[in-house]
Amino acid sequence: TPPEPTRIGLAGLAVMGQNLALNIAEKGFPISVYNRTTSKVDETVERAKQEGNLPVYGFHDPESFVKSIRKPRVIIMLVKAGAPVDQTIKTLSAYMEKGDCIIDGGNEWYENTERREKAVAELGLLYLGMGVSGGEEGARNGPSLMPGGSFEAYKYIEDILLKVAAQVPDSGPCVTYIGKGGSGNFVKMVHNGIEYGDMQLIAEAYDVLKSVGKLSNEELKNWTVQQAADLSIAAPTIAASLDSRFLSGLKEERVKAAEVFKSGGFGDILADQEVDKEKLVDDVRRALYAAKICSYAQGMNLIRAKSIEKGWGLQLGELARIWKGGCIIRAIFLDRIKKAYDRNPDLANLLVDPEFAKEIIERQSAWRRVVCLAINSGISVPGMSSSLAYFDTYRRARVPANLVQAQRDYFGAHTYERVDMEGSFHTEWFKIA
Ligand code: NAP
Repeated sequence: TPPEPTRIGLAGLAVMGQNLALNIAEKGFPISVYNRTTSKVDETVERAKQEGNLPVYGFHDPESFVKSIRKPRVIIMLVKAGAPVDQTIKTLSAYMEKGDCIIDGGNEWYENTERREKAVAELGLLYLGMGVSGGEEGARNGPSLMPGGSFEAYKYIEDILLKVAAQVPDSGPCVTYIGKGGSGNFVKMVHNGIEYGDMQLIAEAYDVLKSVGKLSNEELKNWTVQQAADLSIAAPTIAASLDSRFLSGLKEERVKAAEVFKSGGFGDILADQEVDKEKLVDDVRRALYAAKICSYAQGMNLIRAKSIEKGWGLQLGELARIWKGGCIIRAIFLDRIKKAYDRNPDLANLLVDPEFAKEIIERQSAWRRVVCLAINSGISVPGMSSSLAYFDTYRRARVPANLVQAQRDYFGAHTYERVDMEGSFHTEWFKIA
Protein backbone atom coordinates (compact mmCIF):
# COMPACT_ATOMS: atom_id res chain seq x y z
CA THR A 1 0.00 0.00 0.00
CA PRO A 2 1.40 3.41 -0.91
CA PRO A 3 1.82 5.92 1.97
CA GLU A 4 -0.20 8.43 -0.07
CA PRO A 5 -2.06 8.26 -3.40
CA THR A 6 0.32 7.48 -6.23
CA ARG A 7 0.93 9.88 -9.09
CA ILE A 8 -0.09 7.54 -11.93
CA GLY A 9 -1.24 3.98 -12.70
CA LEU A 10 -0.24 1.42 -15.31
CA ALA A 11 -2.30 -1.60 -16.39
CA GLY A 12 -0.78 -4.40 -18.50
CA LEU A 13 2.54 -5.69 -17.24
CA ALA A 14 3.99 -7.62 -20.17
CA VAL A 15 7.34 -6.53 -21.65
CA MET A 16 6.39 -2.93 -22.40
CA GLY A 17 4.23 -2.18 -19.38
CA GLN A 18 6.62 -3.64 -16.83
CA ASN A 19 9.59 -1.72 -18.17
CA LEU A 20 7.73 1.56 -18.60
CA ALA A 21 6.41 1.31 -15.02
CA LEU A 22 9.96 0.89 -13.68
CA ASN A 23 11.17 3.79 -15.81
CA ILE A 24 8.40 6.08 -14.47
CA ALA A 25 9.12 5.04 -10.85
CA GLU A 26 12.85 5.57 -11.33
CA LYS A 27 12.18 9.17 -12.43
CA GLY A 28 10.60 9.79 -9.02
CA PHE A 29 6.88 9.29 -9.73
CA PRO A 30 5.22 6.72 -7.42
CA ILE A 31 3.18 4.36 -9.59
CA SER A 32 0.38 1.83 -9.03
CA VAL A 33 0.43 -1.25 -11.26
CA TYR A 34 -2.17 -3.85 -12.24
CA ASN A 35 -2.37 -6.83 -14.59
CA ARG A 36 -5.19 -9.27 -15.39
CA THR A 37 -2.92 -12.19 -14.49
CA THR A 38 -1.81 -11.26 -11.00
CA SER A 39 1.52 -13.11 -10.96
CA LYS A 40 2.88 -10.36 -13.26
CA VAL A 41 1.97 -7.76 -10.62
CA ASP A 42 4.10 -9.56 -8.03
CA GLU A 43 6.90 -10.02 -10.55
CA THR A 44 6.94 -6.29 -11.30
CA VAL A 45 6.95 -5.28 -7.63
CA GLU A 46 9.81 -7.74 -7.00
CA ARG A 47 11.81 -6.29 -9.92
CA ALA A 48 11.20 -2.77 -8.58
CA LYS A 49 12.68 -3.85 -5.23
CA GLN A 50 15.71 -5.38 -6.87
CA GLU A 51 16.35 -2.42 -9.13
CA GLY A 52 16.73 -0.01 -6.22
CA ASN A 53 13.53 -0.01 -4.15
CA LEU A 54 11.64 1.92 -6.80
CA PRO A 55 8.19 3.28 -5.72
CA VAL A 56 6.05 0.68 -7.54
CA TYR A 57 2.84 -0.47 -5.78
CA GLY A 58 1.09 -3.62 -6.98
CA PHE A 59 -2.64 -4.41 -6.89
CA HIS A 60 -4.48 -7.64 -7.63
CA ASP A 61 -7.93 -6.14 -8.06
CA PRO A 62 -8.89 -3.26 -10.36
CA GLU A 63 -10.91 -1.31 -7.82
CA SER A 64 -8.16 -0.87 -5.24
CA PHE A 65 -5.72 -0.22 -8.11
CA VAL A 66 -7.80 2.68 -9.48
CA LYS A 67 -8.54 4.09 -6.03
CA SER A 68 -4.86 4.14 -5.07
CA ILE A 69 -4.12 6.84 -7.68
CA ARG A 70 -4.17 10.60 -7.03
CA LYS A 71 -7.06 12.52 -8.66
CA PRO A 72 -7.50 13.41 -11.46
CA ARG A 73 -6.32 9.86 -12.11
CA VAL A 74 -4.19 8.94 -15.08
CA ILE A 75 -3.83 5.28 -16.11
CA ILE A 76 -1.61 4.03 -18.92
CA MET A 77 -2.74 0.76 -20.52
CA LEU A 78 -0.17 -1.46 -22.22
CA VAL A 79 -2.16 -4.48 -23.30
CA LYS A 80 -2.61 -6.24 -26.65
CA ALA A 81 -4.25 -4.00 -29.23
CA GLY A 82 -7.91 -4.63 -30.16
CA ALA A 83 -10.47 -6.32 -27.90
CA PRO A 84 -8.14 -6.51 -24.83
CA VAL A 85 -8.03 -2.68 -24.84
CA ASP A 86 -11.83 -2.48 -24.84
CA GLN A 87 -12.01 -5.04 -22.03
CA THR A 88 -9.41 -3.20 -19.95
CA ILE A 89 -11.23 0.12 -20.43
CA LYS A 90 -14.45 -1.54 -19.28
CA THR A 91 -12.77 -3.00 -16.18
CA LEU A 92 -11.03 0.22 -15.15
CA SER A 93 -13.65 2.79 -16.08
CA ALA A 94 -16.11 1.15 -13.70
CA TYR A 95 -14.11 2.73 -10.84
CA MET A 96 -12.87 5.92 -12.51
CA GLU A 97 -14.46 9.33 -12.06
CA LYS A 98 -15.20 12.37 -14.17
CA GLY A 99 -12.00 14.16 -15.24
CA ASP A 100 -9.83 11.02 -14.95
CA CYS A 101 -7.83 9.95 -17.97
CA ILE A 102 -7.01 6.71 -19.77
CA ILE A 103 -3.95 6.42 -22.02
CA ASP A 104 -3.52 3.58 -24.50
CA GLY A 105 0.22 3.08 -25.02
CA GLY A 106 -0.18 0.15 -27.45
CA ASN A 107 0.12 -0.11 -31.22
CA GLU A 108 -3.53 0.59 -31.85
CA TRP A 109 -5.31 1.39 -35.13
CA TYR A 110 -5.99 5.14 -34.88
CA GLU A 111 -9.70 4.86 -35.63
CA ASN A 112 -10.16 2.57 -32.62
CA THR A 113 -8.64 5.30 -30.46
CA GLU A 114 -11.04 7.88 -31.88
CA ARG A 115 -13.98 5.58 -31.24
CA ARG A 116 -12.88 4.98 -27.62
CA GLU A 117 -12.17 8.67 -27.03
CA LYS A 118 -15.81 9.39 -27.86
CA ALA A 119 -17.13 6.46 -25.84
CA VAL A 120 -15.26 7.35 -22.63
CA ALA A 121 -16.13 11.05 -23.07
CA GLU A 122 -19.71 10.00 -22.29
CA LEU A 123 -18.46 8.88 -18.87
CA GLY A 124 -16.63 12.21 -18.46
CA LEU A 125 -13.22 10.57 -18.99
CA LEU A 126 -10.34 11.95 -21.09
CA TYR A 127 -8.39 9.77 -23.52
CA LEU A 128 -4.98 9.68 -25.15
CA GLY A 129 -3.59 7.26 -27.75
CA MET A 130 0.16 7.31 -27.22
CA GLY A 131 2.62 5.61 -29.55
CA VAL A 132 5.55 4.18 -27.57
CA SER A 133 8.65 3.32 -29.55
CA GLY A 134 11.84 1.64 -28.53
CA GLY A 135 10.83 -1.86 -27.44
CA GLU A 136 11.87 -3.26 -24.09
CA GLU A 137 15.08 -1.28 -23.83
CA GLY A 138 13.37 1.99 -24.81
CA ALA A 139 10.50 1.47 -22.37
CA ARG A 140 12.94 0.90 -19.49
CA ASN A 141 15.53 3.58 -20.28
CA GLY A 142 13.88 6.13 -22.55
CA PRO A 143 11.35 5.62 -25.34
CA SER A 144 10.13 8.00 -28.01
CA LEU A 145 6.58 8.95 -27.03
CA MET A 146 3.85 10.08 -29.43
CA PRO A 147 0.81 11.13 -27.38
CA GLY A 148 -2.30 12.25 -29.28
CA GLY A 149 -5.85 13.02 -28.18
CA SER A 150 -7.01 15.23 -25.31
CA PHE A 151 -4.57 18.13 -24.82
CA GLU A 152 -5.94 18.65 -21.32
CA ALA A 153 -5.01 15.05 -20.46
CA TYR A 154 -1.56 15.50 -21.99
CA LYS A 155 -0.99 18.45 -19.66
CA TYR A 156 -1.77 16.27 -16.60
CA ILE A 157 1.25 14.11 -17.30
CA GLU A 158 3.53 16.28 -19.41
CA ASP A 159 6.04 16.51 -16.53
CA ILE A 160 6.21 12.71 -16.30
CA LEU A 161 6.55 12.16 -20.05
CA LEU A 162 9.31 14.77 -20.39
CA LYS A 163 11.42 12.88 -17.82
CA VAL A 164 10.58 9.34 -18.92
CA ALA A 165 11.24 9.86 -22.67
CA ALA A 166 14.67 9.37 -24.25
CA GLN A 167 16.85 12.44 -23.77
CA VAL A 168 18.87 13.61 -26.74
CA PRO A 169 21.55 16.24 -26.10
CA ASP A 170 20.78 19.54 -27.87
CA SER A 171 17.30 18.50 -28.95
CA GLY A 172 15.61 17.60 -25.69
CA PRO A 173 13.22 14.85 -24.59
CA CYS A 174 11.75 12.63 -27.34
CA VAL A 175 8.15 13.55 -26.70
CA THR A 176 5.77 16.20 -27.90
CA TYR A 177 2.00 16.58 -27.98
CA ILE A 178 1.27 15.20 -31.46
CA GLY A 179 -2.28 16.40 -32.13
CA LYS A 180 -5.93 15.59 -31.68
CA GLY A 181 -7.80 12.27 -32.03
CA GLY A 182 -5.85 9.24 -33.14
CA SER A 183 -2.90 11.25 -34.48
CA GLY A 184 -0.43 9.73 -31.98
CA ASN A 185 -1.28 6.20 -33.13
CA PHE A 186 -1.23 7.19 -36.80
CA VAL A 187 2.20 8.79 -36.51
CA LYS A 188 3.49 5.72 -34.63
CA MET A 189 2.16 3.46 -37.40
CA VAL A 190 3.96 5.38 -40.15
CA HIS A 191 7.05 5.49 -37.95
CA ASN A 192 6.94 1.66 -37.77
CA GLY A 193 6.66 1.55 -41.58
CA ILE A 194 9.72 3.77 -41.91
CA GLU A 195 11.61 1.55 -39.47
CA TYR A 196 10.68 -1.47 -41.54
CA GLY A 197 11.89 0.28 -44.68
CA ASP A 198 15.21 1.03 -42.99
CA MET A 199 15.73 -2.63 -42.17
CA GLN A 200 14.78 -3.76 -45.71
CA LEU A 201 17.30 -1.39 -47.29
CA ILE A 202 20.07 -2.52 -44.98
CA ALA A 203 19.25 -6.12 -45.90
CA GLU A 204 19.45 -5.25 -49.62
CA ALA A 205 22.77 -3.45 -49.18
CA TYR A 206 24.06 -6.50 -47.34
CA ASP A 207 22.89 -8.80 -50.14
CA VAL A 208 24.58 -6.71 -52.87
CA LEU A 209 27.84 -6.49 -50.94
CA LYS A 210 27.89 -10.16 -50.02
CA SER A 211 26.53 -11.73 -53.25
CA VAL A 212 28.03 -9.37 -55.83
CA GLY A 213 30.92 -7.77 -53.95
CA LYS A 214 31.86 -11.07 -52.27
CA LEU A 215 32.62 -9.22 -49.06
CA SER A 216 33.18 -11.51 -46.10
CA ASN A 217 31.06 -11.15 -42.96
CA GLU A 218 34.09 -9.61 -41.26
CA GLU A 219 34.43 -6.98 -43.99
CA LEU A 220 30.68 -6.33 -43.82
CA LYS A 221 30.80 -5.82 -40.04
CA ASN A 222 33.50 -3.14 -40.48
CA TRP A 223 31.50 -1.54 -42.97
CA THR A 224 28.29 -1.65 -40.88
CA VAL A 225 29.91 -0.07 -37.86
CA GLN A 226 31.27 2.76 -39.98
CA GLN A 227 27.93 3.19 -41.70
CA ALA A 228 26.07 3.38 -38.41
CA ALA A 229 28.51 5.95 -37.13
CA ASP A 230 28.50 8.09 -40.27
CA LEU A 231 24.95 8.07 -41.46
CA SER A 232 22.96 5.75 -39.31
CA ILE A 233 20.61 3.65 -41.39
CA ALA A 234 18.56 3.80 -44.58
CA ALA A 235 14.99 3.37 -45.84
CA PRO A 236 13.26 2.41 -49.12
CA THR A 237 9.59 2.58 -49.95
CA ILE A 238 7.58 0.98 -47.24
CA ALA A 239 5.38 -0.99 -49.63
CA ALA A 240 8.40 -2.63 -51.26
CA SER A 241 9.63 -3.81 -47.89
CA LEU A 242 6.23 -5.26 -47.07
CA ASP A 243 6.04 -7.08 -50.43
CA SER A 244 9.51 -8.48 -49.76
CA ARG A 245 8.29 -9.80 -46.46
CA PHE A 246 5.38 -11.59 -48.14
CA LEU A 247 7.75 -13.10 -50.72
CA SER A 248 10.22 -14.09 -48.06
CA GLY A 249 7.42 -16.07 -46.37
CA LEU A 250 7.04 -18.27 -49.46
CA LYS A 251 10.10 -20.30 -48.60
CA GLU A 252 8.90 -23.63 -50.03
CA GLU A 253 7.80 -22.04 -53.30
CA ARG A 254 11.11 -20.21 -53.62
CA VAL A 255 13.08 -23.41 -53.07
CA LYS A 256 11.14 -25.01 -55.95
CA ALA A 257 11.50 -21.92 -58.17
CA ALA A 258 15.24 -21.94 -57.57
CA GLU A 259 15.29 -25.50 -58.97
CA VAL A 260 13.25 -24.45 -62.03
CA PHE A 261 15.66 -21.62 -62.87
CA LYS A 262 18.83 -23.43 -61.84
CA SER A 263 19.84 -24.14 -65.39
CA GLY A 264 19.07 -20.54 -66.46
CA GLY A 265 22.60 -19.38 -65.79
CA PHE A 266 21.75 -17.34 -62.69
CA GLY A 267 24.57 -18.80 -60.66
CA ASP A 268 27.03 -17.85 -63.42
CA ILE A 269 25.96 -14.21 -63.44
CA LEU A 270 27.25 -13.82 -59.90
CA ALA A 271 30.44 -15.76 -60.53
CA ASP A 272 31.28 -13.61 -63.58
CA GLN A 273 31.19 -10.24 -61.83
CA GLU A 274 34.51 -8.51 -61.30
CA VAL A 275 34.00 -5.78 -58.73
CA ASP A 276 36.15 -3.22 -57.01
CA LYS A 277 35.14 -3.84 -53.41
CA GLU A 278 36.11 -0.44 -52.09
CA LYS A 279 34.23 1.37 -54.84
CA LEU A 280 31.21 -0.87 -54.34
CA VAL A 281 31.11 -0.16 -50.61
CA ASP A 282 31.24 3.56 -51.33
CA ASP A 283 28.53 3.31 -54.00
CA VAL A 284 26.25 1.25 -51.77
CA ARG A 285 26.66 3.77 -48.95
CA ARG A 286 25.60 6.56 -51.31
CA ALA A 287 22.72 4.52 -52.73
CA LEU A 288 21.44 3.76 -49.22
CA TYR A 289 21.47 7.39 -48.27
CA ALA A 290 19.64 8.55 -51.40
CA ALA A 291 17.03 5.79 -51.06
CA LYS A 292 16.59 6.70 -47.41
CA ILE A 293 15.76 10.30 -48.30
CA CYS A 294 13.03 9.01 -50.64
CA SER A 295 11.66 6.66 -48.01
CA TYR A 296 11.39 9.34 -45.32
CA ALA A 297 9.92 11.75 -47.87
CA GLN A 298 7.16 9.21 -48.47
CA GLY A 299 6.53 8.58 -44.76
CA MET A 300 6.40 12.29 -43.98
CA ASN A 301 4.05 12.95 -46.88
CA LEU A 302 1.78 10.15 -45.70
CA ILE A 303 1.59 11.75 -42.26
CA ARG A 304 0.98 15.19 -43.73
CA ALA A 305 -1.81 13.93 -46.00
CA LYS A 306 -3.62 12.35 -43.03
CA SER A 307 -3.02 15.45 -40.92
CA ILE A 308 -4.68 17.64 -43.58
CA GLU A 309 -7.57 15.21 -43.99
CA LYS A 310 -8.21 15.08 -40.23
CA GLY A 311 -7.27 18.69 -39.39
CA TRP A 312 -4.64 17.51 -36.90
CA GLY A 313 -2.14 20.28 -37.71
CA LEU A 314 0.86 17.98 -37.20
CA GLN A 315 4.36 19.50 -37.08
CA LEU A 316 6.55 17.30 -39.27
CA GLY A 317 9.84 18.79 -38.06
CA GLU A 318 8.84 18.15 -34.45
CA LEU A 319 8.12 14.49 -35.27
CA ALA A 320 11.59 14.10 -36.73
CA ARG A 321 12.99 15.56 -33.50
CA ILE A 322 11.18 13.12 -31.16
CA TRP A 323 12.26 10.09 -33.22
CA LYS A 324 15.91 10.91 -32.59
CA GLY A 325 16.10 8.85 -29.41
CA GLY A 326 14.44 5.65 -28.27
CA CYS A 327 13.63 4.37 -31.76
CA ILE A 328 15.52 2.19 -34.21
CA ILE A 329 15.48 5.08 -36.67
CA ARG A 330 17.23 7.53 -34.40
CA ALA A 331 19.73 9.27 -36.63
CA ILE A 332 21.66 12.40 -37.35
CA PHE A 333 19.63 12.23 -40.49
CA LEU A 334 16.50 13.14 -38.50
CA ASP A 335 18.19 16.38 -37.50
CA ARG A 336 18.51 17.24 -41.17
CA ILE A 337 14.82 16.51 -41.69
CA LYS A 338 13.91 18.76 -38.79
CA LYS A 339 16.05 21.54 -40.25
CA ALA A 340 14.42 21.12 -43.66
CA TYR A 341 10.96 21.65 -42.12
CA ASP A 342 12.28 24.52 -39.97
CA ARG A 343 13.50 26.20 -43.16
CA ASN A 344 10.14 25.65 -44.80
CA PRO A 345 7.21 24.24 -42.80
CA ASP A 346 5.18 23.94 -46.03
CA LEU A 347 7.84 21.93 -47.85
CA ALA A 348 5.96 19.84 -50.45
CA ASN A 349 8.49 16.99 -50.36
CA LEU A 350 11.84 16.44 -48.64
CA LEU A 351 13.34 15.80 -52.09
CA VAL A 352 12.98 19.46 -53.04
CA ASP A 353 14.54 20.87 -49.90
CA PRO A 354 17.73 22.54 -51.22
CA GLU A 355 20.06 20.55 -48.90
CA PHE A 356 18.46 17.17 -49.62
CA ALA A 357 18.21 17.92 -53.35
CA LYS A 358 21.95 18.63 -53.37
CA GLU A 359 22.67 15.39 -51.50
CA ILE A 360 20.57 13.36 -53.94
CA ILE A 361 22.25 14.94 -56.97
CA GLU A 362 25.67 14.09 -55.52
CA ARG A 363 24.67 10.47 -54.98
CA GLN A 364 22.42 9.64 -57.89
CA SER A 365 25.02 8.12 -60.21
CA ALA A 366 26.26 5.77 -57.47
CA TRP A 367 22.63 4.90 -56.70
CA ARG A 368 21.94 4.05 -60.35
CA ARG A 369 25.16 1.99 -60.56
CA VAL A 370 24.18 -0.12 -57.54
CA VAL A 371 20.62 -0.74 -58.80
CA CYS A 372 21.94 -1.67 -62.30
CA LEU A 373 24.60 -3.93 -60.87
CA ALA A 374 22.09 -5.68 -58.64
CA ILE A 375 19.58 -6.13 -61.48
CA ASN A 376 22.27 -7.42 -63.85
CA SER A 377 23.40 -9.82 -61.17
CA GLY A 378 19.93 -11.17 -60.47
CA ILE A 379 19.84 -9.71 -56.95
CA SER A 380 16.50 -8.13 -56.06
CA VAL A 381 16.69 -4.69 -54.48
CA PRO A 382 13.02 -3.66 -54.32
CA GLY A 383 13.60 -0.94 -51.74
CA MET A 384 16.46 0.79 -53.51
CA SER A 385 14.94 0.45 -56.95
CA SER A 386 11.44 1.56 -55.95
CA SER A 387 12.94 4.57 -54.19
CA LEU A 388 14.83 5.36 -57.39
CA ALA A 389 11.64 5.01 -59.43
CA TYR A 390 9.91 7.34 -56.95
CA PHE A 391 12.65 9.92 -57.41
CA ASP A 392 12.69 9.57 -61.20
CA THR A 393 8.93 10.04 -61.34
CA TYR A 394 8.86 12.93 -58.90
CA ARG A 395 11.62 14.88 -60.62
CA ARG A 396 9.95 14.81 -64.06
CA ALA A 397 7.53 17.57 -65.02
CA ARG A 398 5.71 15.21 -67.39
CA VAL A 399 5.04 11.53 -66.92
CA PRO A 400 3.27 9.16 -69.34
CA ALA A 401 -0.10 9.39 -67.55
CA ASN A 402 -1.55 10.76 -70.82
CA LEU A 403 -1.44 7.28 -72.29
CA VAL A 404 -3.20 5.84 -69.24
CA GLN A 405 -5.95 8.45 -69.65
CA ALA A 406 -6.22 7.64 -73.35
CA GLN A 407 -6.54 3.91 -72.65
CA ARG A 408 -9.21 4.53 -70.01
CA ASP A 409 -11.10 6.66 -72.51
CA TYR A 410 -10.71 3.98 -75.18
CA PHE A 411 -11.91 1.12 -73.01
CA GLY A 412 -14.44 2.85 -70.78
CA ALA A 413 -15.17 6.31 -72.23
CA HIS A 414 -13.82 7.84 -68.99
CA THR A 415 -12.84 11.05 -70.87
CA TYR A 416 -9.44 12.75 -70.63
CA GLU A 417 -7.95 16.20 -70.14
CA ARG A 418 -5.52 17.96 -72.45
CA VAL A 419 -2.40 19.97 -71.68
CA ASP A 420 -3.11 22.48 -74.42
CA MET A 421 -6.70 23.42 -73.55
CA GLU A 422 -9.24 23.40 -70.69
CA GLY A 423 -12.06 20.89 -70.49
CA SER A 424 -12.66 17.18 -70.63
CA PHE A 425 -12.65 15.28 -73.90
CA HIS A 426 -13.75 12.00 -75.36
CA THR A 427 -12.56 10.41 -78.59
CA GLU A 428 -14.06 7.52 -80.53
CA TRP A 429 -10.63 5.94 -80.75
CA PHE A 430 -11.63 2.90 -82.80
CA LYS A 431 -12.88 5.21 -85.56
CA ILE A 432 -9.43 6.77 -85.90
CA ALA A 433 -7.74 4.94 -88.74
P1 NAP B 1 1.47 -7.91 -25.45
O1 NAP B 1 2.08 -9.26 -25.58
O2 NAP B 1 1.05 -7.20 -26.68
O3 NAP B 1 0.20 -7.99 -24.48
C1 NAP B 1 0.25 -8.67 -23.27
C2 NAP B 1 -0.54 -7.91 -22.22
O4 NAP B 1 -1.91 -7.76 -22.64
C3 NAP B 1 -0.55 -8.65 -20.90
O5 NAP B 1 -0.51 -7.70 -19.88
C4 NAP B 1 -1.91 -9.35 -20.96
O6 NAP B 1 -2.43 -9.67 -19.73
C5 NAP B 1 -2.74 -8.26 -21.60
N1 NAP B 1 -3.99 -8.79 -22.14
C6 NAP B 1 -4.15 -9.58 -23.23
N2 NAP B 1 -5.46 -9.86 -23.41
C7 NAP B 1 -6.12 -9.22 -22.42
C8 NAP B 1 -7.49 -9.11 -22.08
N3 NAP B 1 -8.42 -9.70 -22.83
N4 NAP B 1 -7.82 -8.35 -21.01
C9 NAP B 1 -6.88 -7.74 -20.28
N5 NAP B 1 -5.56 -7.80 -20.55
C10 NAP B 1 -5.19 -8.54 -21.61
O7 NAP B 1 2.46 -6.98 -24.57
P2 NAP B 1 3.66 -6.03 -25.01
O8 NAP B 1 4.59 -6.72 -25.96
O9 NAP B 1 4.21 -5.48 -23.73
O10 NAP B 1 2.94 -4.86 -25.82
C11 NAP B 1 1.95 -4.02 -25.27
C12 NAP B 1 1.50 -3.03 -26.34
O11 NAP B 1 2.62 -2.25 -26.72
C13 NAP B 1 1.00 -3.70 -27.63
O12 NAP B 1 -0.01 -2.91 -28.21
C14 NAP B 1 2.21 -3.70 -28.53
O13 NAP B 1 1.88 -3.74 -29.89
C15 NAP B 1 2.86 -2.38 -28.13
N6 NAP B 1 4.31 -2.30 -28.37
C16 NAP B 1 5.13 -3.36 -28.14
C17 NAP B 1 6.49 -3.26 -28.35
C18 NAP B 1 7.41 -4.41 -28.07
O14 NAP B 1 8.60 -4.28 -28.38
N7 NAP B 1 6.94 -5.48 -27.47
C19 NAP B 1 7.04 -2.05 -28.80
C20 NAP B 1 6.20 -0.97 -28.99
C21 NAP B 1 4.83 -1.10 -28.77
P3 NAP B 1 -2.19 -11.17 -19.14
O15 NAP B 1 -0.83 -11.15 -18.55
O16 NAP B 1 -3.28 -11.31 -18.14
O17 NAP B 1 -2.32 -12.14 -20.29
